[in-house]
Amino acid sequence: MTNGKNRMLAGIAFVIVVALTTPGRAEPPSGVDDAYRALVDNPKVKAALETIKADDAATFAEQKRITEIASPPYKEKVRTEYYLKRMQELGLKDATIDAEGNVIALRKGTGNGHPKLAIAAHLDTVFPEGTDVAVKEKDGTFVAPGLGDDARGLVALLSIIKAINANGISTVGDIMFVGDVGEEELGNLRGMKALFHDHTDIDGFISIDGLGVDRVVNRATGSHRYEFVFKGPGGHSFQEFGLPSAIHAMGRAIAKIADLQTPSNPKTTFTVGTVSGGTSVNAIASEAHMAVDMRLNSTEELLKLEAHLLDLVKQAVTEENARWKSNKITLTIKLIGDRPAGMTAADTPIVQAARKSVNAVRNGPNATLGGASTDSNLPMSLGIPAVTIGGGGEGGNWHSVNEWYKPVDGYLGPQRELMAVLILQGLDGVTKPTLAVRPAAK
Ligand SMILES: [Zn+2]
Repeated sequence: MTNGKNRMLAGIAFVIVVALTTPGRAEPPSGVDDAYRALVDNPKVKAALETIKADDAATFAEQKRITEIASPPYKEKVRTEYYLKRMQELGLKDATIDAEGNVIALRKGTGNGHPKLAIAAHLDTVFPEGTDVAVKEKDGTFVAPGLGDDARGLVALLSIIKAINANGISTVGDIMFVGDVGEEELGNLRGMKALFHDHTDIDGFISIDGLGVDRVVNRATGSHRYEFVFKGPGGHSFQEFGLPSAIHAMGRAIAKIADLQTPSNPKTTFTVGTVSGGTSVNAIASEAHMAVDMRLNSTEELLKLEAHLLDLVKQAVTEENARWKSNKITLTIKLIGDRPAGMTAADTPIVQAARKSVNAVRNGPNATLGGASTDSNLPMSLGIPAVTIGGGGEGGNWHSVNEWYKPVDGYLGPQRELMAVLILQGLDGVTKPTLAVRPAAK
């Protein structure tokens, strides 16, 4: 969701980049530009983009249906089985669920199995069991937890498969369609870890997560997440007054964390996301828990922030003990989330294709580059070219039960993704793949 000014700036920046990389002598255009030109005027491709547009309402109906199948972390099974069934109904008969719970469907190309591009959306949400997942509408805005993140990505994939089928499109490279588990929160990218462990022959990866078509995520924001457990003697609030409290120690820690100052560049964030503890209003708490999330685009800075934050929590425990001349409060620190940071260079075909493909579906500037924490963190950390791009439409209030979505030009998402896939994997008889075959993947 860039504003007009940013969009203009991005446009100018792009013009400068082009100017710098185009010397006076006519240089042969890059593979991505060539492929783009050949594809954008191809009747089959045009027809496929039209199919996606015509499918817009059905795609949104499917998005609402999927949203209403609850999919809490580690409990994605019902949605997973539904998604498998949909893949199979769309002709991907060999689609299966792997040991970790990912839905995987391979659509063979006409080549020798390479390049192999995996394109994925995540099945899980951040919402616990029992959350009301019914989609509600008010004046054209739809509200439901997980409606955009990532039900939109899941249906964008289905829409692409339908368009490929309806227009008899054969790619040269193989396409692996994936509905993956464990992207959010404590899932810790477990779906991705399994996928790239089991399939070492993947040459490139696209995650469809987020909305719109304005952005390409080519930097992986690293995150570290901790659970802190404070323990103390506990006791009656009146009779045993004078003992240190686990909750008071945690409160001191939260106050310190809340006052942390962090730079906006590189964007550095922290939050105490969940707290729990205590047993009764009239008891000095014997136990308290909190979970903290820290994110940053640079692993080095992340480690600095982490060291500081851990110190503050330890100080809080010392202060609570000192307040009551005790040593009874103890602290256990557990790393519960570790997402690697990483990056795909701007001049790699997958980033170029993700940007360039936007031109095929709407007028306006190329997509801008950015950083986020998504499924792409894992392949990026392994050196496998990866990007995360949006599924189309508008929305906000991520990770809240008030998450909203507006189906405004939603079809631009899957249209753009299909175009990127074709640029990378080649349209049989028309273009060659531009995604490089990784030596390690052969
Ligand atoms: Zn997501």
